[in-house]
Amino acid sequence: MRDKLRRRYQVQREVTRKGYFEGAIALSELTRLQELLHLDDPRHVDRQIAVRFEFLRNEYDVPMIVGQLQTSLELQCQRCLKALEMPIKLDFRLMIDASEELVRESSVDTLYSDDGFIDVFEVVEDELILAIPLVALHEDTACNEYWQASVAEPEVAAKENPFSVLRQLKTTD
Ligand SMILES: [Zn+2]
Repeated sequence: MRDKLRRRYQVQREVTRKGYFEGAIALSELTRLQELLHLDDPRHVDRQIAVRFEFLRNEYDVPMIVGQLQTSLELQCQRCLKALEMPIKLDFRLMIDASEELVRESSVDTLYSDDGFIDVFEVVEDELILAIPLVALHEDTACNEYWQASVAEPEVAAKENPFSVLRQLKTTD
């Protein structure tokens, strides 16, 4: 059974009852994330982030929050400085209050509770901040004519480089 999403959860209680939640968080609630976005567009305020997650225990008996979020954020293209729409859909898996030893051994990140409580809005905000590219660019390299003209030369040089094939493989990954 899925319950309505809220902001704070008591970890042990939710793990015991295998809490499963689904809902939406308004972008306007996530102020740290907002600072990284292209905010000229007033539609932004109405954006929602669809979230669902469950609480469980991993094989070491450590509580975990496992979920998925989906939204679309408006970034600023660093080539033309106009808005760039970036759809985001990602899975997240975090241990909660894992021991230092486990944190070292595991590839899964840990989240530290506040006296046994976690704030899911903060979890979602951190995940989105990590998902945003440092430099956002439109796929169409012609979005800024002036910029294209200025980099035409290094692009030609790159074609003669034997490693350019490797680089292409990487960028299409
Ligand atoms: Zn652009």
